[in-house]
Amino acid sequence: MEEYLNQLNENQREAVMFCEGASLVVAGAGSGKTRVLTYKIAWLLQQGLPPQSILALTFTNKAAREMKERIAAITGEQVARRLWMGTFHSIFSRILRYEAEYIGYPSNFTIYDASDSKSLLKAIIKEMQLDDKVYRPGMVQSRISNAKNALITWKAYEQNKELVESDINAKIPLLREIYKRYQSRCQQSGAMDFDDLLLQTNILFRDHPAILEKYRRHFQYVLVDEYQDTNFAQHLIVQRLCEEHGRICVVGDDAQSIYSFRGANIDNILQFKNIYQGCRIFKLERNYRSTQNIVNAANSLIDKNKEQIRKTVYSENEEGNKVAVIASYSDYEEAYAVAARISEMRMNGPKYDYADFAILYRTNAQSRILEEALRKRNIPYKIYGGLSFYQRKEIKDVISYFRLIINPHDEEALKRVINYPTRGIGDTTVNKLVAAASQHNVSMWTVLQAPLEYTVSINSGTSNKLTAFRELIEGFIEQDKTLSAEDMAALVVKQSGIINNLLQDRSVEGVSKTENVQELLKGVAEYCEIRKEEGAEQVTLAGFLAEVALLTDQDNDKEEQANKVTMMTVHAAKGLEFRNVFVVGLEEDLFPSQLSKDNPRAVEEERRLFYVAITRAEQNCILTYAKSRYRNGQSSICSPSRFLKDIDGRYLDIPSSSVNSFDIFASMRDKYQQHPAFTSPFQQPQPSHLTKIESATISTSSVANIDLPGLVVGAKVRHDRFGEGEVMAIEGTGGNAKASVDFVHFGQKQLLLKFAKLTVL
Ligand code: ATP
Ligand code: MG
Repeated sequence: MEEYLNQLNENQREAVMFCEGASLVVAGAGSGKTRVLTYKIAWLLQQGLPPQSILALTFTNKAAREMKERIAAITGEQVARRLWMGTFHSIFSRILRYEAEYIGYPSNFTIYDASDSKSLLKAIIKEMQLDDKVYRPGMVQSRISNAKNALITWKAYEQNKELVESDINAKIPLLREIYKRYQSRCQQSGAMDFDDLLLQTNILFRDHPAILEKYRRHFQYVLVDEYQDTNFAQHLIVQRLCEEHGRICVVGDDAQSIYSFRGANIDNILQFKNIYQGCRIFKLERNYRSTQNIVNAANSLIDKNKEQIRKTVYSENEEGNKVAVIASYSDYEEAYAVAARISEMRMNGPKYDYADFAILYRTNAQSRILEEALRKRNIPYKIYGGLSFYQRKEIKDVISYFRLIINPHDEEALKRVINYPTRGIGDTTVNKLVAAASQHNVSMWTVLQAPLEYTVSINSGTSNKLTAFRELIEGFIEQDKTLSAEDMAALVVKQSGIINNLLQDRSVEGVSKTENVQELLKGVAEYCEIRKEEGAEQVTLAGFLAEVALLTDQDNDKEEQANKVTMMTVHAAKGLEFRNVFVVGLEEDLFPSQLSKDNPRAVEEERRLFYVAITRAEQNCILTYAKSRYRNGQSSICSPSRFLKDIDGRYLDIPSSSVNSFDIFASMRDKYQQHPAFTSPFQQPQPSHLTKIESATISTSSVANIDLPGLVVGAKVRHDRFGEGEVMAIEGTGGNAKASVDFVHFGQKQLLLKFAKLTVL
């Protein structure tokens, strides 16, 4: 047990063992903040604090799980299991379920995910006959979300002159009315959205001092990771729990604050010492994660930010390779270059697994081309942040049945499955039910009990269908009282008709949907098994659902263990580390994003994001950019990101040829833009697309003479940009002669011989 303290340096150990009051650890990336938090929990347990009295809040479920595993290794599984450890959302949804009666919700409340919320907002906007081009659902959703994170309830919103006026100026004066209706419909459905989980916790603690007191006493020690990314709602919950006893330790790095668009506030970290008088501040300076070159490159970058707490971060690891920069002609080529580099690195030098590589990008849309390139090279990969398993249509349909069984008032779930599989209940009927529910201020389920009483005009045929559906759900609710989650899930999939419906679809897509549903059933079974192992007597569907609702796409356990290249946005990579990291798409208007470029504060946030990206790398960091990229339906010329210039050249490895070729490229800008390969590259097979760019490039410089006699099928050749390859075919004659060459790192390409600089080896 003592041994673990030896795995800390002096400063870390001091931070771990300090328990006399509030403490704040501010330190740069990779300096062991998360390690301090983890070991501090072990230390507290060793001091005799019961595990259930420790609350540890993390940013992702994954981080919580990893921490729990580490602690279990020190203290044993039994103890670790009893800790309150998880994301803000998961921990406080648990508390809200216990205390639901105080805030007017049922304890089995549904958690609406972002798509449920959006669907409800769309319905409300339609019902109010507003123009959804003005009241764009996405925009409305984020405004309501921001309000909630600033703890502004719909009532407070209505009374807030400033907000009301700003909405009038923005020509959306009815936003407050939408907020009000949205909230009332959520409440009617017994549903909370993600933001409600924090807002309602605050309301609970604000309005019920006795309950707050109970949790204050219960949580003897509170620890928070990634504190720089907490928003006001989260900050206040923590403050309410800890301000009296001050037994709190938060760790964070202002240089990694990257969630201000979701209301995160760096000030939370800066003000920490004002809230907790006598708070101890610890600084950690040694980075254990990365090579010196990577740490120095990251330092030189973040140094360009004006707003920051200056910190020293150094590494005593080896100097390592310089941070490499790869320039490519197009986004396609960039993707191929990344895939090629991964293959190359796996073959040469230290033996890397696929799991040792991560590709980080600014936006999810960038992943498609990268995927294609990886697939072509048979490189296995996993993507975090695409459509998560639980967001797939067939899975959401099944889950919606589960949700209805647990909470039949859940309107979004009801709307989803009332006519799935089709049972002759059309949109008109559904709209009538929705309207009646809204008019009488009751849930759709209540209307469904006696449609006629709620003046829904339906014929007897429809009435029978509604009754049949209601009885189906009621039957499930009855069964759920005795069956385990596993049996219940299997029963629902069968009796609802879902599995039959899917089995009828023999298309590839249909088969994969069936497989996904089977996978879900397996997931429920596994969940039951784990809970039983942990000593649970009855594993309920409600329990399963409560967990699933909070899973994010970053929480795919099985994927995690697989030996695959990880692809994710930089945001999702926070807190993680990989031996080799590619950061792609380093171009103006992409990274930094177009939206931020005119706002110095926003550019600083983008720079912090880039800092986060670089500091994920342990051994090699490779930055790539393309000179043209296909975005929003057209190909455009890009300039390298200003952030590349922010990095001190001493730590960069920029191949000189790429810089030169970029200059050539820049001078040809106009010509390129008119080139067909740029206006519609996707209509052409990819190799010829590259060939066209290639031939145009070279034609500006001297046309190379090639040694045609030696150029035969099977000949080994070298090309200036594509490197070595083998001639696969030659066709055409004279000026039209073309060769197909299979390049080691770039795959097969067709080259017009009069332009291509090929040397026969
Ligand atoms: P980030 O800012 O990215 O969240 P962090 O400050 O939380 O980083 P950790 O993830 O805790 O840093 O640590 C970075 C790496 O360094 C981890 O692999 C960790 O195990 C290792 N590490 C931290 N402290 C030490 C130490 N004293 N000895 C050896 N390795 C350490
Ligand atoms: Mg960390």
